[in-house]
Amino acid sequence: MEVQAGIERRVTRQVMVGDVPVGGGAPITVQSMTVTRTADHEATLQQIYDLAMAGADIVRCTCNELEAAEGLARIVPRSPVPIVADIHHQYRMALAALEAGVHCLRLNPGNIRKPEHIRTVAAEARDRGVPIRIGVNGGSLHPDLYAKYGGRVTAEAMVESALDEIRFFEDVDFDLIKISVKASSVPLMIEAYRQLSEVTDFPLHLGVTEAGPPPAGLIKSTAGIGALLAQGIGDTIRYSLTADPVEEARAGRALLEAMGLRERKNVDLIACPSCGRAEIDVVAVAEEAMAAFADREIPLQVAVMGCVVNGPGEARDADLGIAAGNRRGHLFVKGRNAAVVREDEMVDALVEWAVLIHEEGAEAALARVDTEKARREADKDRDRLLAEQGDDANDAGTRIELIRRHTS
Ligand code: SF4
Repeated sequence: MEVQAGIERRVTRQVMVGDVPVGGGAPITVQSMTVTRTADHEATLQQIYDLAMAGADIVRCTCNELEAAEGLARIVPRSPVPIVADIHHQYRMALAALEAGVHCLRLNPGNIRKPEHIRTVAAEARDRGVPIRIGVNGGSLHPDLYAKYGGRVTAEAMVESALDEIRFFEDVDFDLIKISVKASSVPLMIEAYRQLSEVTDFPLHLGVTEAGPPPAGLIKSTAGIGALLAQGIGDTIRYSLTADPVEEARAGRALLEAMGLRERKNVDLIACPSCGRAEIDVVAVAEEAMAAFADREIPLQVAVMGCVVNGPGEARDADLGIAAGNRRGHLFVKGRNAAVVREDEMVDALVEWAVLIHEEGAEAALARVDTEKARREADKDRDRLLAEQGDDANDAGTRIELIRRHTS
């Protein structure tokens, strides 16, 4: 076991997908899949670049026709990240994708069923040193397994499918294997991966298949993948969303960063949920800040807080934050008041300070300003708000009074 971010990670074997290690204690990687026709290599490459920018470490492209394999031959040399070819029913497409130079194959045991075909592909991949993901999918289990388990898709059936496939590969001394046992049911996929992790040490690719459009798809994927990661299971992940695949890559990256399993790359924006004390439209300002930071690689935690009464204290661990009060924005750095700006300049000030802190550090940024003066101004607006709203800004006291009157 290896401990990372307080999580005991199960140690697996390592395979190399191009120059990206998967398993064996390597950082957990994010995958996504293009939705363009692979034959259209320019459009596909553009999408691969977009996905890489959004946080994808590895990208999969479908290889469903000869033209797709030819497209891959043009894509692979120009791609910024390793490419996995998704093979559907024709084993010949796997051979064509290998010829195109892909860095990994994904085979679905439910689709390519003839043992001699699987062995042919495995032998060719072995000679080229290319790994294969065995991608078991709850929706396309082999009919025999389906029947064996009473016409139901069970975790046991999915694990058996993966183990059967491994045996074909081992027949030709092929062990550059990753495995996935995806299902659209979150409890089922969690159980299948849990069982699989007990019987094999090949690296595991996690995902909830056909999770659907956001927000439900995001929630299902996060629940399934996050639960397994928290148990130390999983070496590479993919969100399967019915959405622009850039969202998949962003979500995968965000999950790993939130769990402390990958270093933060972009701003982690936190914001209060807003309440009766809020002096600004927190939702609108937070959205504006999200958009302003979207493409900036600034690995800081930035807070948007609705009021200066509680905001700076509640977000004192953030690297930087802003809280509204008396139509002004009170900017604070690691809980220390730093500056006062106009309310309509709050987001601009956040960006400016984030860049400064990122480039020069928090202490150097604070040394440029009069923190005492900023604190006095914040105290003034805080006292004014408390005097106006009292301790009960959400007016719970009045409501409780009314409830008592109705019920007495
Ligand atoms: S008290 Fe202030 S910081 Fe806390 S939720 Fe309400 S507005 Fe936001």
